Amino acid sequence: MSNKKTVGKSTLSIWGGEQEHELYERSTQVPVVHSVSFGYKDINTWQNVALEKEPGHIYSRNTNPTVRAFEDKVKELEYAEAATSFATGMAAISNCLATFLKPGDRVVSIKDSYGGTNKIFNDFLPPLNIDVTLCETSDFEQMELEIGKGCAIVYLETPTNPTIKILDIKRLSIAAKKVNALVVVDNTFATPINQNPLQLGADIVLHSASKYLGGHADALGGVICGSKELVKQVYHYREINGATLSPMDAYSFIRGMKTLKLRVERQNDNAMAVARWLDKHPQVEQVNYPGLESHLHHDVAKEQMSGFGGMLSFSVKGGLEAIKTFLPKLQYAHMAANLGCVETVVGPPVTTSHVECSADERAAAGIPEGLVRYSAGIEDIDDLIADLEQALAHL
Ligand SMILES: *Cc1c(COP(=O)(O)O)cnc(C)c1O
Repeated sequence: MSNKKTVGKSTLSIWGGEQEHELYERSTQVPVVHSVSFGYKDINTWQNVALEKEPGHIYSRNTNPTVRAFEDKVKELEYAEAATSFATGMAAISNCLATFLKPGDRVVSIKDSYGGTNKIFNDFLPPLNIDVTLCETSDFEQMELEIGKGCAIVYLETPTNPTIKILDIKRLSIAAKKVNALVVVDNTFATPINQNPLQLGADIVLHSASKYLGGHADALGGVICGSKELVKQVYHYREINGATLSPMDAYSFIRGMKTLKLRVERQNDNAMAVARWLDKHPQVEQVNYPGLESHLHHDVAKEQMSGFGGMLSFSVKGGLEAIKTFLPKLQYAHMAANLGCVETVVGPPVTTSHVECSADERAAAGIPEGLVRYSAGIEDIDDLIADLEQALAHL
């Protein structure tokens, strides 16, 4: 199923990982297996399964059929050898970092990674004697220089949240390989439909499944993909430390992912149309969207992405006060902290991705207080634009 030349991504997102269902009464859909454990009639079989000599499951903190089906589906879409999943996207990130880092190591990353990730870099790693260097996100030369000094992990996120900056995965992976560093890419914003970091040189790709993969904002989870050898190490850490994805949430992701490509293509189109419209609006100061020719790294985005994604951000004249006036007027958008779902969602980083950061930390990450993050839903585009028009008219 992982032959990308003959099988398209819609087919993969529908059929990928669905083999697990064959175990259950000929159901055509993956069942939700809530069982904590799996019983055996003889010790030899039990032992063989436990030693991974035979397929099967032992205990759901480790593996579970519904969860496995979800992992396999993402694995197929990222063209990876293996995948393992987590209770949240942050658990995927923290477990992955904890697996590969030890005291004395160094991480090179960017200033405007996801707020929670930024917290790990600033607050949780340094006390463990792990040195973290956060570079200017758009300065690839500085990043190459810092990577060249030696590090264990190069941690990338592209497009970034909420500034929608683009990193050159291929170029930075080449720099990382020279110093034997692992390249980890948070692919949450791009989705496997628009970008496949493993094919650009990354070692691990991870997602907050709570966003686009699920797509309906009704389940929390995370997933990482990579080589069998690397994923096995992260799986072992998670299996013991226990941040396991629940079977019910895995089921929600499986169901959501069947329409992943349909949704993401529509969100790509809607985000592009909204970005172009906002770009011409007199009340709008700046629009950040990699599909706009004015984006600093539009060329890199064009090269490494097959679509520009459903996420954009923009600032309006009048800053935070203007946002407080105009955002509540939107009729077809949740004002909320999530993103990547079928509904349009808006919010300022002050209350969403960077709520854990102080104003100084946000300023250091280059996030204006008056920025709006816009996650395009799959509504009809004319309605989204008319809605923005009437809301902005209040300014
Ligand atoms: C939401 C998000 C996360 C964290 O995921 P959770 O499922 O909320 O823990 C990590 N990275 C990015 C880019 C995100 O948008």
